[in-house]
Order: sequence, then structure tokens, then C-alpha cells
Amino acid sequence: MAFLRSVAFRLLPATAMLLVGSFAVFAADKTIFLTFDDGPLPGTANILSVLAEENVPAALFMVGLHVETIPNGRDLLAQAKGMPLITVGNHSYSHANNRYRRYYSNTQAVVADMLHANQVLGLSPVVYARLPGRDVFRLPTVSREDLSINVAQWEREWLDYELVAEAGFYLYGWDFEWVHSNDGKPVQSVDHLVSEIDHLFQYGRFTQRGKMVLLMHDEMFQDQFNGQGNLRSLITMLRQRGYAFGDIRNYAPSNP
Ligand SMILES: [Zn+2]
Repeated sequence: MAFLRSVAFRLLPATAMLLVGSFAVFAADKTIFLTFDDGPLPGTANILSVLAEENVPAALFMVGLHVETIPNGRDLLAQAKGMPLITVGNHSYSHANNRYRRYYSNTQAVVADMLHANQVLGLSPVVYARLPGRDVFRLPTVSREDLSINVAQWEREWLDYELVAEAGFYLYGWDFEWVHSNDGKPVQSVDHLVSEIDHLFQYGRFTQRGKMVLLMHDEMFQDQFNGQGNLRSLITMLRQRGYAFGDIRNYAPSNP
């Protein structure tokens, strides 16, 4: 009996470690980072209520100007900042007025616009951020360029990215987008989006292996587009398929 007990003692921790180990590998293999841009906007309140209900981490990259101009903008910001699983990030003050080339032609103004948004959003370094209109990563261990702009344009803009990062920002791009039309209506159905995500995890290459940063926009989650229902179904379907939801603060090691 003593022998059996000692064998059992030896086996149990080993089995437990195996389980923990395989779970860790599994989770690391399929992690989705939900990110929502351009809030506060109509739609933001629906996002916050579903995220709270489902207990899922997410990053909300907010626009300073919207905090000041959208009804309840300040309340929505405060509500998001009060939720421990939510990272409120900086998505600039002006959103470049949606004229990106012109915006990125003035490096000092870009840095100033990002710092202005810090003040409005009440954020201090290191600030999690996403540049308006640019899919660029600048993290201590991850750097990636926006492949949708040409080399000449990149040469005009790279200093902007570098100096913004140096001013105390961790810049996050994205791997995949749930697209919307001009009025904010989602293009893909939730079913279609989930099948695209499955496909990408099988064949796609992400900025970091096994980690997908998913871009969405707050305006897609308005009542008229069934915002709460869509986000709830998306989270439920991804969970059922074994995806984990990651916190952007743990996306990459911060100490290289
Ligand atoms: Zn944006």
C-alpha cells in the first residue's frame, strides 16, 4: 500500500502538470484580442454592457474629440475605465480628421495630438494606443509596418511612428477586421466572421503566432444593427470553438 501511495503521489502532480501544460499550450495557440476603435460613440454603451456580462477582456481605443462631443462621452469613458478587464487606449484627439496623409506629414503635430488625447482621456505613460488609420505596431518586443501603404509614404511617416512610441506609447495595429459600411453596419454576419477567423487560425500568419488582434468599431454595435446580440453571439461562438480572449496588456512581453 505504501508503495502504491507513493506511486500515486508521484503520478498525481505529473498528471496535473500535464493538464496545466496542455491547457497553457492550447490557450496560447488560439487567443483573440478584441479591440474597439473610435469611441465613445453610439454603440459604446452596448459594448460595455456585453463585456461586463460576459466577463471578457478588451481594449477600447478612444478618440479625445468624441469624449468631448458625444452625449455622455465622459460618462462612457469613466465607465470603461472603471472596468478592470477593459483597457482604455488612446486613438488620438482628432482622428486625423480622417485625412491621414496630411496628418502624418507633420510629425510634431501628430505627437502633440496623441498627447492632447492623453489629457482628455486621463491617461499617463505607458499608454496603450492605436494610430488613426495606420496598422502599425511599436511595442518593446514587436515592431511591424502597415503593409497597406506604399514605401514612399512609409518613408514620409516612419519618424512619426517612432517619435510617438518614444513619447510613451505602445502602438497596436491589428491582424483582422470585422468590416463595416459607411453607416456603421457590419458587413460580415457573425457566422461568416467566425468562419473567417477559423480559417485564419488554420492558415494565416498573425503579427504574433497564435494571437489575433481583431479590429472592430464602436459604431457597429448600435441598437439598429443588433449590437448587443451580435457581440454576445460572437463571444459565445468563439468560446465554444475553444478560443481564449486575451488582455492587450499581456499581448507581448514588455521587457525585451
Ligand atoms: Zn479609428
